[in-house]
Amino acid sequence: MLSNSLIELDRAHLVHPVSSFHGHEQQGVRVLTSAKGATVTDAQGRQLVDGFAGLWCVNAGYGHDSIVEAAARQMRELPYATAYFGMGSESAIRLAAELAERAPGDLDHVYFTLGGSDAVDSTVRFIRYYWFAKSQPQRDQFISVEQGYHGSSTVGAGLTALPNFHAGFGIPFDWQHKIPSPYPYRNPVGQDPQAIINASLTALKAKIEEVGADRVAAFYMEPIQGSGGVIVPPKGWMKAIRNLCKEYGILFVADEVITGFGRTGPLFACTEDEVVPDFMTTAKGLTSGYVPMGAVFMADHVYQVIADGAGASAVGHGYTYSAHPVSAAVGLEVLKLYEGGLLENGIKAGARLMAGLESLKDHPLVGEVRGRGMLAAVELVTDKIAKTPLPAESVPARRVFDRAWDNGLIIRAFANGILGYAPPLCCTEADIDAIIERTKKTLDQTLEDPDVRKAVKG
Ligand code: PLP
Repeated sequence: MLSNSLIELDRAHLVHPVSSFHGHEQQGVRVLTSAKGATVTDAQGRQLVDGFAGLWCVNAGYGHDSIVEAAARQMRELPYATAYFGMGSESAIRLAAELAERAPGDLDHVYFTLGGSDAVDSTVRFIRYYWFAKSQPQRDQFISVEQGYHGSSTVGAGLTALPNFHAGFGIPFDWQHKIPSPYPYRNPVGQDPQAIINASLTALKAKIEEVGADRVAAFYMEPIQGSGGVIVPPKGWMKAIRNLCKEYGILFVADEVITGFGRTGPLFACTEDEVVPDFMTTAKGLTSGYVPMGAVFMADHVYQVIADGAGASAVGHGYTYSAHPVSAAVGLEVLKLYEGGLLENGIKAGARLMAGLESLKDHPLVGEVRGRGMLAAVELVTDKIAKTPLPAESVPARRVFDRAWDNGLIIRAFANGILGYAPPLCCTEADIDAIIERTKKTLDQTLEDPDVRKAVKG
Protein backbone atom coordinates (compact mmCIF):
# COMPACT_ATOMS: atom_id res chain seq x y z
CA MET A 1 0.00 0.00 0.00
CA LEU A 2 1.08 3.51 -0.73
CA SER A 3 2.07 5.31 2.41
CA ASN A 4 0.53 8.73 2.88
CA SER A 5 3.99 10.11 3.39
CA LEU A 6 4.78 9.52 -0.29
CA ILE A 7 1.76 11.57 -1.29
CA GLU A 8 2.85 14.30 1.11
CA LEU A 9 6.43 14.26 -0.20
CA ASP A 10 5.14 14.56 -3.76
CA ARG A 11 2.84 17.42 -2.81
CA ALA A 12 5.64 19.27 -1.08
CA HIS A 13 8.47 18.72 -3.55
CA LEU A 14 7.65 17.31 -6.99
CA VAL A 15 6.56 19.86 -9.59
CA HIS A 16 4.48 18.00 -12.19
CA PRO A 17 4.67 18.92 -15.87
CA VAL A 18 1.68 20.62 -17.50
CA SER A 19 -0.35 20.61 -14.28
CA SER A 20 -2.32 23.06 -12.21
CA PHE A 21 0.01 23.28 -9.21
CA HIS A 22 -2.86 23.92 -6.77
CA GLY A 23 -5.09 21.39 -8.50
CA HIS A 24 -2.41 18.76 -8.07
CA GLU A 25 -1.86 19.65 -4.43
CA GLN A 26 -5.55 19.00 -3.82
CA GLN A 27 -5.78 15.84 -5.87
CA GLY A 28 -2.55 14.20 -4.79
CA VAL A 29 -0.37 11.91 -6.85
CA ARG A 30 -1.32 8.52 -8.30
CA VAL A 31 1.73 6.33 -7.97
CA LEU A 32 2.39 3.53 -10.45
CA THR A 33 4.50 0.69 -9.13
CA SER A 34 4.98 -1.91 -11.88
CA ALA A 35 3.96 -2.83 -15.41
CA LYS A 36 3.99 -5.72 -17.86
CA GLY A 37 2.81 -5.84 -21.46
CA ALA A 38 0.04 -3.24 -21.73
CA THR A 39 -0.96 -3.39 -18.06
CA VAL A 40 0.25 -1.12 -15.27
CA THR A 41 -0.32 -1.58 -11.55
CA ASP A 42 -0.86 1.30 -9.15
CA ALA A 43 0.11 1.57 -5.51
CA GLN A 44 -3.34 0.35 -4.46
CA GLY A 45 -2.78 -2.84 -6.45
CA ARG A 46 -5.29 -1.80 -9.13
CA GLN A 47 -4.46 -3.14 -12.59
CA LEU A 48 -5.09 -0.80 -15.51
CA VAL A 49 -4.79 -1.23 -19.25
CA ASP A 50 -2.52 1.58 -20.38
CA GLY A 51 -4.44 2.92 -23.35
CA PHE A 52 -1.97 5.79 -23.71
CA ALA A 53 1.40 3.93 -23.49
CA GLY A 54 2.62 6.27 -20.75
CA LEU A 55 2.75 9.51 -22.72
CA TRP A 56 2.34 7.89 -26.16
CA CYS A 57 5.83 6.54 -25.85
CA VAL A 58 6.00 2.96 -24.53
CA ASN A 59 5.32 1.59 -28.01
CA ALA A 60 6.95 -1.78 -27.32
CA GLY A 61 5.00 -2.24 -24.09
CA TYR A 62 6.34 -2.82 -20.59
CA GLY A 63 8.58 -5.51 -19.13
CA HIS A 64 10.83 -6.55 -22.03
CA ASP A 65 13.80 -8.24 -20.38
CA SER A 66 15.85 -7.94 -23.56
CA ILE A 67 15.66 -4.13 -23.34
CA VAL A 68 16.71 -4.23 -19.69
CA GLU A 69 19.61 -6.55 -20.59
CA ALA A 70 20.74 -4.29 -23.44
CA ALA A 71 20.83 -1.29 -21.08
CA ALA A 72 22.58 -3.24 -18.32
CA ARG A 73 25.19 -4.61 -20.71
CA GLN A 74 25.93 -1.14 -22.04
CA MET A 75 26.09 0.34 -18.53
CA ARG A 76 28.55 -2.33 -17.44
CA GLU A 77 30.78 -1.93 -20.48
CA LEU A 78 30.60 1.80 -21.11
CA PRO A 79 27.94 3.81 -19.29
CA TYR A 80 28.90 7.09 -20.93
CA ALA A 81 30.89 8.30 -23.90
CA THR A 82 30.75 11.82 -25.18
CA ALA A 83 30.16 12.38 -28.85
CA TYR A 84 32.20 15.62 -28.55
CA PHE A 85 35.90 15.88 -29.53
CA GLY A 86 35.51 13.27 -32.26
CA MET A 87 34.70 10.46 -29.82
CA GLY A 88 31.80 8.03 -29.91
CA SER A 89 30.37 4.69 -28.87
CA GLU A 90 29.56 1.64 -30.93
CA SER A 91 25.89 1.62 -29.91
CA ALA A 92 25.29 5.23 -30.97
CA ILE A 93 27.09 4.78 -34.29
CA ARG A 94 25.19 1.57 -35.04
CA LEU A 95 21.84 3.10 -34.10
CA ALA A 96 22.45 6.12 -36.34
CA ALA A 97 23.30 3.78 -39.23
CA GLU A 98 20.28 1.53 -38.65
CA LEU A 99 17.94 4.52 -38.49
CA ALA A 100 19.41 6.18 -41.58
CA GLU A 101 18.97 2.93 -43.49
CA ARG A 102 15.25 2.89 -42.65
CA ALA A 103 14.52 6.60 -42.99
CA PRO A 104 12.87 7.81 -46.19
CA GLY A 105 14.86 9.40 -49.03
CA ASP A 106 18.14 11.11 -48.20
CA LEU A 107 17.49 11.53 -44.46
CA ASP A 108 20.90 9.98 -43.93
CA HIS A 109 22.25 11.95 -40.98
CA VAL A 110 21.09 11.51 -37.39
CA TYR A 111 21.64 13.94 -34.51
CA PHE A 112 20.71 12.43 -31.13
CA THR A 113 19.05 14.48 -28.42
CA LEU A 114 17.47 13.71 -25.04
CA GLY A 115 13.85 13.89 -26.14
CA GLY A 116 11.44 15.55 -28.53
CA SER A 117 11.62 19.16 -27.33
CA ASP A 118 15.36 19.45 -27.80
CA ALA A 119 15.03 17.61 -31.13
CA VAL A 120 12.69 20.40 -32.30
CA ASP A 121 14.97 23.03 -30.78
CA SER A 122 17.93 21.50 -32.61
CA THR A 123 16.15 21.74 -35.96
CA VAL A 124 15.51 25.45 -35.41
CA ARG A 125 19.21 25.99 -34.72
CA PHE A 126 20.32 23.89 -37.70
CA ILE A 127 17.85 25.63 -39.98
CA ARG A 128 19.11 29.08 -39.01
CA TYR A 129 22.68 27.86 -39.56
CA TYR A 130 21.69 26.41 -42.95
CA TRP A 131 20.30 29.73 -44.19
CA PHE A 132 23.35 31.62 -42.94
CA ALA A 133 25.51 29.11 -44.80
CA LYS A 134 23.46 29.75 -47.96
CA SER A 135 23.96 33.51 -47.54
CA GLN A 136 20.24 34.04 -46.88
CA PRO A 137 20.25 34.97 -43.18
CA GLN A 138 17.06 36.97 -43.74
CA ARG A 139 15.19 33.65 -43.89
CA ASP A 140 14.42 33.75 -40.20
CA GLN A 141 10.62 33.28 -40.14
CA PHE A 142 9.00 29.97 -39.15
CA ILE A 143 5.48 28.72 -39.89
CA SER A 144 3.61 25.94 -38.09
CA VAL A 145 0.00 24.79 -37.68
CA GLU A 146 -2.71 25.80 -35.19
CA GLN A 147 -3.30 23.06 -32.59
CA GLY A 148 0.16 21.71 -33.36
CA TYR A 149 2.57 20.64 -30.64
CA HIS A 150 6.31 20.91 -31.03
CA GLY A 151 7.53 20.56 -27.49
CA SER A 152 8.08 22.69 -24.46
CA SER A 153 11.40 24.45 -25.02
CA THR A 154 11.05 28.23 -25.24
CA VAL A 155 11.48 28.17 -29.00
CA GLY A 156 9.54 24.94 -29.62
CA ALA A 157 6.65 26.04 -27.39
CA GLY A 158 6.34 29.07 -29.67
CA LEU A 159 5.96 26.77 -32.68
CA THR A 160 3.45 24.85 -30.57
CA ALA A 161 -0.03 26.37 -30.94
CA LEU A 162 -1.79 25.44 -27.70
CA PRO A 163 -2.85 28.40 -25.55
CA ASN A 164 -1.59 27.22 -22.16
CA PHE A 165 1.93 26.76 -23.56
CA HIS A 166 1.96 30.46 -24.46
CA ALA A 167 -0.05 32.28 -21.78
CA GLY A 168 2.20 33.77 -19.14
CA PHE A 169 5.39 32.72 -20.94
CA GLY A 170 5.77 35.66 -23.34
CA ILE A 171 5.67 33.53 -26.50
CA PRO A 172 5.23 32.97 -29.43
CA PHE A 173 7.97 35.19 -30.83
CA ASP A 174 7.12 37.51 -33.68
CA TRP A 175 9.01 35.28 -36.12
CA GLN A 176 6.70 32.35 -35.39
CA HIS A 177 3.56 32.19 -37.55
CA LYS A 178 0.64 29.77 -37.83
CA ILE A 179 -1.83 28.55 -40.42
CA PRO A 180 -5.16 26.93 -39.44
CA SER A 181 -5.30 23.24 -38.60
CA PRO A 182 -6.74 20.94 -41.29
CA TYR A 183 -9.05 19.52 -38.53
CA PRO A 184 -11.68 17.71 -40.69
CA TYR A 185 -14.37 17.46 -37.96
CA ARG A 186 -14.42 21.19 -37.34
CA ASN A 187 -13.08 22.67 -40.58
CA PRO A 188 -15.05 25.70 -41.85
CA VAL A 189 -14.80 24.30 -45.41
CA GLY A 190 -16.43 21.01 -44.36
CA GLN A 191 -15.06 17.49 -44.43
CA ASP A 192 -14.32 17.00 -48.12
CA PRO A 193 -10.64 15.98 -48.26
CA GLN A 194 -9.75 17.99 -51.37
CA ALA A 195 -11.49 21.10 -50.03
CA ILE A 196 -9.46 20.80 -46.80
CA ILE A 197 -6.20 20.36 -48.72
CA ASN A 198 -7.02 23.35 -50.94
CA ALA A 199 -7.88 25.50 -47.92
CA SER A 200 -4.55 24.67 -46.27
CA LEU A 201 -2.62 25.39 -49.48
CA THR A 202 -4.38 28.73 -49.83
CA ALA A 203 -3.70 29.59 -46.20
CA LEU A 204 -0.03 28.63 -46.44
CA LYS A 205 0.45 30.58 -49.67
CA ALA A 206 -1.20 33.62 -48.12
CA LYS A 207 0.96 33.33 -45.00
CA ILE A 208 4.15 32.99 -47.06
CA GLU A 209 3.23 36.04 -49.14
CA GLU A 210 2.33 38.00 -46.00
CA VAL A 211 5.62 37.15 -44.27
CA GLY A 212 7.64 37.48 -47.49
CA ALA A 213 8.55 34.53 -49.70
CA ASP A 214 12.27 35.22 -49.26
CA ARG A 215 11.92 35.46 -45.46
CA VAL A 216 10.46 32.04 -44.61
CA ALA A 217 12.99 29.55 -43.29
CA ALA A 218 10.86 26.48 -42.58
CA PHE A 219 7.44 24.95 -42.13
CA TYR A 220 6.67 22.53 -39.26
CA MET A 221 3.89 19.96 -39.08
CA GLU A 222 2.90 16.67 -37.47
CA PRO A 223 1.62 13.90 -39.77
CA ILE A 224 -1.20 13.52 -37.21
CA GLN A 225 -1.58 16.36 -34.70
CA GLY A 226 -1.22 14.65 -31.34
CA SER A 227 -1.54 16.96 -28.37
CA GLY A 228 -3.95 19.19 -30.30
CA GLY A 229 -6.49 16.33 -30.06
CA VAL A 230 -5.33 13.55 -32.44
CA ILE A 231 -6.30 15.45 -35.56
CA VAL A 232 -5.91 13.37 -38.71
CA PRO A 233 -5.46 15.40 -41.92
CA PRO A 234 -6.83 13.92 -45.14
CA LYS A 235 -4.57 11.60 -47.12
CA GLY A 236 -2.51 13.71 -49.52
CA TRP A 237 -2.49 16.77 -47.24
CA MET A 238 1.12 16.37 -46.16
CA LYS A 239 2.31 15.73 -49.69
CA ALA A 240 0.51 18.78 -51.08
CA ILE A 241 1.94 21.03 -48.37
CA ARG A 242 5.40 19.53 -48.76
CA ASN A 243 5.30 20.26 -52.51
CA LEU A 244 4.23 23.85 -51.92
CA CYS A 245 7.15 24.35 -49.52
CA LYS A 246 9.47 22.95 -52.19
CA GLU A 247 8.11 25.43 -54.75
CA TYR A 248 9.00 28.30 -52.42
CA GLY A 249 12.35 26.78 -51.39
CA ILE A 250 11.16 26.51 -47.77
CA LEU A 251 12.52 23.70 -45.59
CA PHE A 252 9.90 21.16 -44.51
CA VAL A 253 10.07 19.60 -41.04
CA ALA A 254 7.99 16.53 -40.16
CA ASP A 255 7.64 16.25 -36.39
CA GLU A 256 7.22 12.50 -35.89
CA VAL A 257 7.80 12.47 -32.13
CA ILE A 258 4.44 10.74 -31.65
CA THR A 259 3.80 9.23 -35.08
CA GLY A 260 7.21 7.60 -35.44
CA PHE A 261 8.12 4.01 -34.61
CA GLY A 262 4.96 2.15 -35.49
CA ARG A 263 2.40 4.39 -33.83
CA THR A 264 0.42 4.73 -37.09
CA GLY A 265 1.64 1.46 -38.63
CA PRO A 266 4.99 1.88 -40.41
CA LEU A 267 8.20 3.10 -38.76
CA PHE A 268 7.59 6.65 -40.02
CA ALA A 269 4.17 8.12 -40.85
CA CYS A 270 5.49 10.44 -43.59
CA THR A 271 6.09 7.35 -45.74
CA GLU A 272 2.31 6.80 -45.77
CA ASP A 273 2.00 10.03 -47.78
CA GLU A 274 5.21 9.34 -49.74
CA VAL A 275 6.81 12.44 -48.29
CA VAL A 276 10.53 12.93 -47.76
CA PRO A 277 11.02 15.87 -45.38
CA ASP A 278 14.19 17.94 -45.07
CA PHE A 279 14.20 17.26 -41.31
CA MET A 280 12.34 14.68 -39.27
CA THR A 281 12.18 14.82 -35.48
CA THR A 282 11.58 11.70 -33.39
CA ALA A 283 11.74 10.60 -29.73
CA LYS A 284 9.30 8.56 -27.56
CA GLY A 285 9.04 5.24 -29.48
CA LEU A 286 12.73 5.51 -30.44
CA THR A 287 13.56 4.00 -27.05
CA SER A 288 9.98 3.06 -26.19
CA GLY A 289 10.25 5.38 -23.18
CA TYR A 290 12.60 3.04 -21.29
CA VAL A 291 15.29 5.76 -21.28
CA PRO A 292 15.24 9.30 -22.69
CA MET A 293 16.37 9.92 -26.27
CA GLY A 294 15.35 11.86 -29.36
CA ALA A 295 16.71 11.90 -32.89
CA VAL A 296 16.80 14.57 -35.56
CA PHE A 297 17.05 13.15 -39.08
CA MET A 298 18.74 15.58 -41.46
CA ALA A 299 18.59 15.28 -45.25
CA ASP A 300 21.93 14.87 -46.98
CA HIS A 301 21.48 18.03 -49.06
CA VAL A 302 20.95 20.03 -45.83
CA TYR A 303 23.86 18.36 -44.07
CA GLN A 304 26.21 19.21 -46.95
CA VAL A 305 25.26 22.91 -46.88
CA ILE A 306 25.86 23.09 -43.12
CA ALA A 307 29.13 21.16 -43.41
CA ASP A 308 30.45 23.38 -46.20
CA GLY A 309 29.25 26.53 -44.43
CA ALA A 310 31.12 25.61 -41.26
CA GLY A 311 34.29 24.52 -43.03
CA ALA A 312 36.93 23.95 -40.37
CA SER A 313 34.81 25.60 -37.63
CA ALA A 314 32.71 23.66 -35.12
CA VAL A 315 28.92 23.87 -35.57
CA GLY A 316 28.22 25.08 -32.04
CA HIS A 317 25.28 22.97 -31.02
CA GLY A 318 25.46 20.01 -28.62
CA TYR A 319 24.47 18.41 -25.33
CA THR A 320 26.44 16.46 -22.73
CA TYR A 321 24.10 13.55 -23.33
CA SER A 322 23.94 13.72 -27.16
CA ALA A 323 24.23 10.16 -28.54
CA HIS A 324 24.15 8.59 -25.07
CA PRO A 325 25.41 5.00 -25.38
CA VAL A 326 22.88 3.47 -22.96
CA SER A 327 19.93 5.12 -24.73
CA ALA A 328 21.38 4.02 -28.07
CA ALA A 329 21.74 0.42 -26.86
CA VAL A 330 18.08 0.52 -25.83
CA GLY A 331 17.15 2.04 -29.20
CA LEU A 332 18.89 -0.80 -31.06
CA GLU A 333 17.07 -3.45 -29.03
CA VAL A 334 13.71 -1.71 -29.38
CA LEU A 335 14.17 -1.52 -33.15
CA LYS A 336 14.80 -5.28 -33.18
CA LEU A 337 11.57 -5.85 -31.27
CA TYR A 338 9.56 -3.62 -33.62
CA GLU A 339 10.83 -5.48 -36.66
CA GLY A 340 10.60 -8.85 -34.94
CA GLY A 341 6.81 -8.70 -34.79
CA LEU A 342 5.66 -5.65 -32.84
CA LEU A 343 5.01 -3.46 -35.89
CA GLU A 344 2.95 -6.26 -37.37
CA ASN A 345 1.05 -6.80 -34.13
CA GLY A 346 0.45 -3.05 -33.85
CA ILE A 347 -1.17 -2.99 -37.29
CA LYS A 348 -3.53 -5.82 -36.33
CA ALA A 349 -4.27 -4.39 -32.90
CA GLY A 350 -4.77 -0.93 -34.44
CA ALA A 351 -7.43 -2.29 -36.81
CA ARG A 352 -9.21 -3.89 -33.85
CA LEU A 353 -8.93 -0.66 -31.84
CA MET A 354 -10.42 1.43 -34.65
CA ALA A 355 -13.23 -1.07 -35.26
CA GLY A 356 -14.00 -1.18 -31.54
CA LEU A 357 -14.09 2.60 -31.20
CA GLU A 358 -16.20 2.88 -34.36
CA SER A 359 -18.73 0.59 -32.66
CA LEU A 360 -19.24 3.35 -30.07
CA LYS A 361 -20.23 5.89 -32.72
CA ASP A 362 -23.94 5.62 -31.92
CA HIS A 363 -23.39 6.47 -28.26
CA PRO A 364 -25.17 9.77 -27.52
CA LEU A 365 -21.89 11.40 -26.41
CA VAL A 366 -19.73 10.40 -29.38
CA GLY A 367 -19.37 13.06 -32.07
CA GLU A 368 -16.51 11.52 -34.03
CA VAL A 369 -14.11 8.59 -33.96
CA ARG A 370 -10.84 9.08 -35.83
CA GLY A 371 -7.33 7.74 -35.97
CA ARG A 372 -4.78 5.62 -37.76
CA GLY A 373 -3.04 2.53 -36.46
CA MET A 374 -2.57 2.67 -32.70
CA LEU A 375 -3.35 6.38 -32.50
CA ALA A 376 -6.99 7.33 -32.12
CA ALA A 377 -9.47 9.76 -30.62
CA VAL A 378 -13.10 9.88 -29.65
CA GLU A 379 -14.47 13.41 -29.70
CA LEU A 380 -17.28 13.84 -27.19
CA VAL A 381 -20.19 16.20 -27.83
CA THR A 382 -23.58 16.81 -26.29
CA ASP A 383 -25.22 17.54 -29.66
CA LYS A 384 -24.09 15.53 -32.67
CA ILE A 385 -25.51 17.97 -35.24
CA ALA A 386 -24.24 21.18 -33.64
CA LYS A 387 -21.06 19.36 -32.47
CA THR A 388 -21.39 21.01 -29.05
CA PRO A 389 -18.49 20.14 -26.74
CA LEU A 390 -19.19 18.74 -23.25
CA PRO A 391 -19.95 21.43 -20.63
CA ALA A 392 -16.46 22.59 -19.71
CA GLU A 393 -17.44 24.39 -16.50
CA SER A 394 -17.64 21.14 -14.54
CA VAL A 395 -14.28 19.94 -15.91
CA PRO A 396 -15.72 16.79 -17.46
CA ALA A 397 -12.37 15.84 -18.99
CA ARG A 398 -10.91 15.23 -15.55
CA ARG A 399 -14.06 13.43 -14.51
CA VAL A 400 -13.90 11.15 -17.55
CA PHE A 401 -10.22 10.45 -16.88
CA ASP A 402 -10.88 9.60 -13.22
CA ARG A 403 -13.82 7.40 -14.09
CA ALA A 404 -11.87 5.51 -16.77
CA TRP A 405 -9.15 5.01 -14.17
CA ASP A 406 -11.66 3.56 -11.72
CA ASN A 407 -12.81 1.26 -14.53
CA GLY A 408 -9.23 0.03 -15.05
CA LEU A 409 -8.28 2.09 -18.09
CA ILE A 410 -5.78 4.89 -18.67
CA ILE A 411 -6.69 7.22 -21.54
CA ARG A 412 -5.91 10.82 -22.22
CA ALA A 413 -8.85 13.13 -21.62
CA PHE A 414 -8.18 16.45 -23.34
CA ALA A 415 -9.79 19.51 -21.77
CA ASN A 416 -12.09 20.00 -24.76
CA GLY A 417 -13.69 16.56 -24.31
CA ILE A 418 -11.54 14.59 -26.72
CA LEU A 419 -10.40 11.15 -25.53
CA GLY A 420 -6.97 10.12 -26.80
CA TYR A 421 -5.78 6.55 -27.34
CA ALA A 422 -2.22 5.40 -28.04
CA PRO A 423 -1.83 1.91 -26.57
CA PRO A 424 1.39 -0.12 -26.76
CA LEU A 425 1.87 -2.04 -30.02
CA CYS A 426 2.12 -5.27 -28.03
CA CYS A 427 -1.60 -5.16 -27.09
CA THR A 428 -3.39 -8.49 -27.25
CA GLU A 429 -6.94 -8.80 -28.55
CA ALA A 430 -8.07 -9.00 -24.93
CA ASP A 431 -6.26 -5.72 -24.12
CA ILE A 432 -7.99 -3.94 -27.01
CA ASP A 433 -11.37 -5.39 -26.07
CA ALA A 434 -10.84 -4.21 -22.49
CA ILE A 435 -10.06 -0.69 -23.77
CA ILE A 436 -13.32 -0.62 -25.73
CA GLU A 437 -15.49 -2.16 -23.03
CA ARG A 438 -14.10 0.14 -20.32
CA THR A 439 -14.50 3.18 -22.57
CA LYS A 440 -18.15 2.28 -23.14
CA LYS A 441 -18.74 1.86 -19.42
CA THR A 442 -17.07 5.22 -18.77
CA LEU A 443 -19.23 6.95 -21.39
CA ASP A 444 -22.42 5.36 -20.04
CA GLN A 445 -21.58 6.57 -16.53
CA THR A 446 -20.70 10.06 -17.79
CA LEU A 447 -24.04 10.27 -19.59
CA GLU A 448 -25.74 9.75 -16.23
CA ASP A 449 -24.09 12.85 -14.72
CA PRO A 450 -26.91 15.39 -14.23
CA ASP A 451 -25.10 18.25 -16.00
CA VAL A 452 -24.17 16.08 -18.97
CA ARG A 453 -27.62 14.50 -19.18
CA LYS A 454 -29.17 17.97 -19.11
CA ALA A 455 -26.83 19.26 -21.82
CA VAL A 456 -27.51 16.24 -24.03
CA LYS A 457 -31.27 16.71 -23.69
CA GLY A 458 -30.78 20.38 -24.55
N1 PLP B 1 6.87 17.10 -30.80
C1 PLP B 1 5.73 16.40 -30.71
C2 PLP B 1 4.90 16.19 -31.95
C3 PLP B 1 5.31 15.87 -29.48
O1 PLP B 1 4.15 15.22 -29.40
C4 PLP B 1 6.13 16.06 -28.36
C5 PLP B 1 5.72 15.52 -27.05
O2 PLP B 1 4.64 15.01 -26.87
C6 PLP B 1 7.31 16.79 -28.50
C7 PLP B 1 7.66 17.29 -29.73
C8 PLP B 1 8.18 17.04 -27.31
O3 PLP B 1 8.77 15.86 -26.89
P1 PLP B 1 9.31 15.71 -25.40
O4 PLP B 1 8.12 15.73 -24.51
O5 PLP B 1 10.04 14.39 -25.44
O6 PLP B 1 10.23 16.84 -25.14
